[in-house]
Amino acid sequence: MAIHRQPSPTEGIRPLNFPENSPEGILETLYAILQKRIIRFLENVNKSKNHTSKDSSIQLPCVNMGKSKMYDGYKSFQYLKPGKDYRVYKLAKQVSRVQSQIIQLSRIEQERLEKILEKYIVISLHDHTTLYPEDPNLIIDCIRSGRTFIGYEGLAASGVDAVFEALYDGVGSIESKDPWAWENIIYQVGMFLSDLDHQDVVFLAKRVEDVLRAHENGKIAIILHMESIPDIGSNLDKIDVLYGFGIRCMGLAYSHGNVFCSGLAEKHDKGLTDLGYEAIERMNKLGLTIDLAHVSDKSRLEAIEASEKPVFVTHAGARALWSSRRMVADEALHALAEKGGVIGVEAAPHTTLTMNRMKHSIESVMEHFEYITNLIGIEHVAFGPDTLFGDHVELHKIFARELATSAVREALPEFKEVEYVDGLENPSEFHNIIRWMIKHGYSDQEIEKAAGANIMRILEKTWRN
Ligand SMILES: [Zn+2]
Repeated sequence: MAIHRQPSPTEGIRPLNFPENSPEGILETLYAILQKRIIRFLENVNKSKNHTSKDSSIQLPCVNMGKSKMYDGYKSFQYLKPGKDYRVYKLAKQVSRVQSQIIQLSRIEQERLEKILEKYIVISLHDHTTLYPEDPNLIIDCIRSGRTFIGYEGLAASGVDAVFEALYDGVGSIESKDPWAWENIIYQVGMFLSDLDHQDVVFLAKRVEDVLRAHENGKIAIILHMESIPDIGSNLDKIDVLYGFGIRCMGLAYSHGNVFCSGLAEKHDKGLTDLGYEAIERMNKLGLTIDLAHVSDKSRLEAIEASEKPVFVTHAGARALWSSRRMVADEALHALAEKGGVIGVEAAPHTTLTMNRMKHSIESVMEHFEYITNLIGIEHVAFGPDTLFGDHVELHKIFARELATSAVREALPEFKEVEYVDGLENPSEFHNIIRWMIKHGYSDQEIEKAAGANIMRILEKTWRN
């Protein structure tokens, strides 16, 4: 006969940052119990008000946000025992890590923001929701440990319904030193999905309807996105394998190029290879959206032409404003729009500066947005901030070679580096983009398009429905 016992109040709760029996660990456990009890109390209050939510999580108010996204307090890998099952790092703060500005709104503007977030779908076309150690010296060590910690709390504060999640891109080196080695990619995807599966708020999207579901239910949809086809040799079937694991958007090459096409950092731009054309055809057939953010100029133009379906440039800016190789020339922007594609304006440190604003901040990012909008129309523009949780500037320095930062900056004037991008420092600050558009006189319809509707249009055309 089964013996029924009362669960202990600490059952399943373990300190994340300190040893279990240390004074700090005991305090941390007590804090987690208190948090859990408050959540349960609020759930009961909601139930007594005939709240009909089917979820065990509750709607928590977000930092300075209109729309509430759920956050149930889950932290990555809390299903394991820290220290025993995985190496513990003091991770970066997910909200207000630095004194990045929040664009202030009047009461009326704030009410408009709330209505916009309630009504329209908001999508980040490129971000890394990965959480890095507070101490940048531990970044490499943390990546090699193979655990992708996810910034659930920061995501809940961001205002987005869906994120194109790019995992470790050119810096992943878990099983092999080559970030695009097959085993590194599979490791990252599997580890990310394992953690995701241990909570109920953020979930993997595979269909357009999943994004709609996230918007309606206060949840967040993750769209898995690789910045390059990994090292698969000539075995195109491995693209099907990636699709099978849930990847729904993929670049052809990262900055250094591969067997499919030249990357943006290469001396000789050879464009697409024959295998590159075949890969595009396979991705079109599979329902895997093509991303041309890191390829060379020639590869980009050829791929836009070769693809039967519209494509993304998930994170970049206008080369007319800043002559870095990471930026896209007007000719390619026109070609992208003619094909019905969309570009996401990016905000990773020291990418989208302009000659008018040589100090990187949300203002220079939005100058790129306005330039591209005037050039090809707002129907073809979105936002792929390309941020992460942690010290992004230091991370760029550590991985300068892998990220090809010197090749990218070759033709640029001298500029002063910043410690962080004010106004778009990490994924939790996405709402600042909407705030900025409200402040600068954009209509609801224009905000709707750039915030998510343009991306949804491409997903409907490229994914299996
Ligand atoms: Zn990138």
